[in-house]
Amino acid sequence: MNNRRDFIKKSALALAAITATSAIGKTLSPTEFIESALVDGGKYSLPALPYAYDALEPHIDKLTMEIHHSKHHKAYVDNMNKALETVDGKVLGSPQTFENIFENVSKLPAALRNNAGGHYNHSLFWSLMKLNGGGEPKGKLADAIKTTFGSFDEFKKQFTDAGMKRFGSGWAWLVKTKEGKLVITSTPNQDNPLMNLESIEVKGGPVLALDVWEHAYYLKNQNKRADYIASWWNVVNWETAEGLYTSLK
Ligand code: MN
Repeated sequence: MNNRRDFIKKSALALAAITATSAIGKTLSPTEFIESALVDGGKYSLPALPYAYDALEPHIDKLTMEIHHSKHHKAYVDNMNKALETVDGKVLGSPQTFENIFENVSKLPAALRNNAGGHYNHSLFWSLMKLNGGGEPKGKLADAIKTTFGSFDEFKKQFTDAGMKRFGSGWAWLVKTKEGKLVITSTPNQDNPLMNLESIEVKGGPVLALDVWEHAYYLKNQNKRADYIASWWNVVNWETAEGLYTSLK
């Protein structure tokens, strides 16, 4: 259990450091960020996008990004704060962190599972895209992908399939397990691989995250999820993915 807790902590902290840099243009230590993410009364807030709403054009359009961030993500943050008001602190664990929420999620209300997942997953998702992104990873992550999947193209095919086959709303993930293996998986709704739930098929730290909810692509691509995923490969921020991969021991 201790290993698992350490693992979740490292993953949450890796995200925290990335989000801190993007939200305020200054690098905070992970601990400083965890504290800064909580405003008065222990409330969470919507992090600023690390780029303009139109930065990912033409691959992901400005209106989709604006609504996805300022409406959908904001609703997860607001509803996470509301759900936290109803929760027994003893069940949640102390301090109030994503680490404790995901570790104890089976004992917490569904509203907290859904909205804390939504807040975490979207914060990660924004940081995994950038202007002039795409191409292929370099460094240790590139080596691990080639070793695990045979080639980058084969990895891309399998990850795309995971996104395509996720029925209804959910996410595709590249996960580093606590054994250090890279595995592709997917989750329904706003669940993620850090949640301590029987239903999570592959547990571990996220390295890559793809939102396949229709709200992520409907305005531009209508029902064509395959077109959206093909476009998304052009905006992947492989430096963030590499940072997540190397921070997870
Ligand atoms: Mn979304």
